[in-house]
Amino acid sequence: MIQDGQLLNYVGGEWKRSRTSEFLDVRNPATAETIVRSPLTPTGEVDEAVQAAQTAWADWRRTPPTERIQYLFKLKRLLDEHFDEVARLTTQECGKTLAESQGELQRGIENVEVATGIPSLMMGYNVEDIARGIDEHMFRQPLGVVAAITPFNFPGMIPLWFLPYAIACGNCFILKPSEKVPMTMSRVFELIDQLGLPPGVISLVNGAKETVDALLNHPTVRAISFVGSSPVAKYIYSRAAANGKRAQCQGGAKNPVIVLPDADMQMATRIIADSAFGCAGQRCLATSVAITVGEAGAPFRKQIANAAATRKVGYGLDPQVEMGPVITAESRQRIESLIGKGLSEGAEVLVDGRGQPIPGYERGFFIRPTILDGVDPRGEIAHTEIFGPVLSLTHVQTIEEAIELVNASPFGNMACLFTSSGAAARKFRYEARAGNIGINIGVAAPMAFFPFSGWKDSFFGDMHAQGRDAIEFYTEKKVVVERWPREWSRKF
Ligand code: NAD
Repeated sequence: MIQDGQLLNYVGGEWKRSRTSEFLDVRNPATAETIVRSPLTPTGEVDEAVQAAQTAWADWRRTPPTERIQYLFKLKRLLDEHFDEVARLTTQECGKTLAESQGELQRGIENVEVATGIPSLMMGYNVEDIARGIDEHMFRQPLGVVAAITPFNFPGMIPLWFLPYAIACGNCFILKPSEKVPMTMSRVFELIDQLGLPPGVISLVNGAKETVDALLNHPTVRAISFVGSSPVAKYIYSRAAANGKRAQCQGGAKNPVIVLPDADMQMATRIIADSAFGCAGQRCLATSVAITVGEAGAPFRKQIANAAATRKVGYGLDPQVEMGPVITAESRQRIESLIGKGLSEGAEVLVDGRGQPIPGYERGFFIRPTILDGVDPRGEIAHTEIFGPVLSLTHVQTIEEAIELVNASPFGNMACLFTSSGAAARKFRYEARAGNIGINIGVAAPMAFFPFSGWKDSFFGDMHAQGRDAIEFYTEKKVVVERWPREWSRKF
């Protein structure tokens, strides 16, 4: 909800104007225009949201799961009805194409669908007669108040990795969306406001570091879900753990693909170009390094250069456009300076996307697809997340060398292989050290009923997002050992 150009928070079932005097401008990255101002919610107001959530929890945890999921069925219907409108907002604040915004919202809605299975998914287990006349049961109970902190690159999908499961399991949930893209969730919360949920079950607080720290320090918040860059993920994980909270923190990435000579080169090139340049490379599952093996080098190099140079870049609401801008001017500057760093480490620029404004959108934060060739695998650029439309090429002679490069990365979000050999595919999926593996797939994104997260510096925690892991994360197990004395049960 927007009032006088300012976003409101949603606390205790009401839209509330923050009392802060500090705001951040939210800009349309294609035009650089300010579209709204986002409040930096201070600690005291976060406390009000937590108190409202805690108060609501007393009843919400006693609400049968079959009743709780009725709100999710309604949420799905409302999201479907307002699908295009919400997706357009995502494109306006985040820059990606409308098709990409629709795709991510669809992935988010699929999590709402999976969470409607909670009455079955939340079941515990039991055994009769663990000793004579004694039975043992395991129940899952909700934690209480839980919170999620989300990044800029999927404003619609990533909050929905958490929200539906959290409330379906009987928790009360607080979202702190990215301050760069708060409009999508503001609109989704207007739909949530129509669900008739008890006040305080779901809340929204806008802000940045101070707002996050208030959640991390609050003794009533039991669990934190985080998605963002690795340094912040590490900080959130350690701070949450020090404060006795459960935490799942997804971090950054540097995703490699290996192309073997027996790959279908045309298909591989098209898929890898979509993975590297889709969402302007601002996807945690974007390909950022292509490692060609043996004879794959020359044809892949030629075809990927052509795919990069011909990609249509512009405003994401233009249906012809295949790639939008990056999120901010600072982000573009950072990407350009990392390209410069790559060149200083000996790479060559095969396709240069720098300094080519888009006619009609000269103030937008655009950088066109860029390819760096001959990137030194030991150099800094080979291990630094660029988070922009930049693909690095590296060439080796054997699949073993290629897998070694994959496994040398500090990150482990995704690794993919393009081949027509089952044996090579099996070797790769067995040996590659990453949480998501693609075989002839460019963005190996798990469906909502599978767990999502990376390995190494791409993830801090134990239980992943989505699916069954989400139920594990949002519940604690209670074991009950039970005897009902009667004469027959006293025969020890
Ligand atoms: P970010 O780390 O800058 O911000 C993420 C969230 O953390 C935001 O809500 C922000 O307000 C908050 N935040 C930022 N700095 C903070 C600090 N010092 N203390 C407390 N809170 C802080 O990330 P971003 O730029 O919004 O998103 C891009 C990053 O997210 C990339 O690194 C990308 O790889 C990663 N990402 C990872 C996944 C995944 O599943 N692993 C998915 C999407 C994005």
